[in-house]
Amino acid sequence: MADEAQDPRKIPYLRASVGDLFRARTVPSCDACGEELPVEPSGSDDEGFQIRGKGTYVSSRGAAVQYEDVPLCPSCGSAIALTALRQWDIEDEEG
Ligand SMILES: [Zn+2]
Repeated sequence: MADEAQDPRKIPYLRASVGDLFRARTVPSCDACGEELPVEPSGSDDEGFQIRGKGTYVSSRGAAVQYEDVPLCPSCGSAIALTALRQWDIEDEEG
C-alpha cells in the first residue's frame, strides 16, 4: 500500500482487487450478533446439536424484489421470529 499522502492535494485511497470483492468468509457468523456459527462437517447427515438458522432479507425497488439469505445463530433466529409473530398479532388486533 502506498504511503499515506501528506500532500493535502492528494486524495487518500485504498487499493482492492477483484479477489477482495469475492473473498469468502472463512468462519460463518450470525448476521445479527456476529457470533461464530459451528461449521458443518462435510458429508455428515447427523445434525446433532449443531442447529443453524437463517433469515432472509427482502427488499424491493419498484417492481424488482430481492431476497438475500443470511445465517443466524439459534438465539437471534428465535428472537427475531418471536418479535415478528408478536408484531403480527398486534397488527391483527388493531385492524
Ligand atoms: Zn446471533
